[in-house]
Amino acid sequence: MIGAFDGKKLRRLLASAVLTGGPRQTVLGIGGDSLTLMAGPCSAESEELVEECAREVSRAGCRFLRGGAYKPRTSPREFQGVGEPALRWLRDSADRHGLKVVTEARDVSHLPAVAEVAHLIQIGSRNMQNFELLRLAGKTGVPVLLKRGLAATLEEFLLSAEYVLEGGSSVVLCERGIRGFEPWTRNTFDVGGMALLKHLSRWPVVADPSHGTGLREIVGQVALAAVAAGADGLIVETHPRPEESLTDREQAFPLSDLQELCVRAAYVRSTVRWSYLLP
Ligand code: PEP
Ligand code: MN
Repeated sequence: MIGAFDGKKLRRLLASAVLTGGPRQTVLGIGGDSLTLMAGPCSAESEELVEECAREVSRAGCRFLRGGAYKPRTSPREFQGVGEPALRWLRDSADRHGLKVVTEARDVSHLPAVAEVAHLIQIGSRNMQNFELLRLAGKTGVPVLLKRGLAATLEEFLLSAEYVLEGGSSVVLCERGIRGFEPWTRNTFDVGGMALLKHLSRWPVVADPSHGTGLREIVGQVALAAVAAGADGLIVETHPRPEESLTDREQAFPLSDLQELCVRAAYVRSTVRWSYLLP
């Protein structure tokens, strides 16, 4: 029992995998002793951009290159991503620079192509309760980075993870902010919810301070707060020329500042040692 939270009830609700059954899990090294850093552009706009980002992301000490080939956009008239060619750019650049790829499958029809290049398949917020996508992504055997829904409770988030786990893939939970009443930030990064997940789930938890804030000016601060609160990793949107970013421009973190952020994050990580309630 943590406060009013009844762990027993949730354990009954969940068949097993998210909460119980075995030791803490690591996924592709995420959730191990060191912090896992992931960065890259919001959208894999061009081959040149992907290559430039991969080079610097690797140099900064990150292990994963992120980038969207299929972008979930609120308006159908906005740039939707390059599609399949971008998947190849991501994998080729990642391979050249010793990185792993995390990229989104927005629809079940994207799964075969995404599963071929991605080390980690991202399922975006808007799809957190697309149960067919969760189920089928789980069946690819490729680990899944599951982002918290825009207005999802932690219980709903964990139950969605259960769909992925039932398929057989492992899962990394990603707190990316939830919709609040504050219009000056894009979302409200739920650092408390993220911290609680570390007590509830055996699966790694990473933080996305980019969508969590929507503002590059505070991405660094929130990233460090998440690490201090126990995040196993960070996923950060970055761009060499943030003002030219085709998607999520306001939150694009300058590529030239990425290395400093990574050094600071590693430092914060080295100063915090949490022991969680789960064994
Ligand atoms: C993204 O990471 O590219 C993205 C669209 O994130 P979210 O699903 O969290 O909005
Ligand atoms: Mn984005």
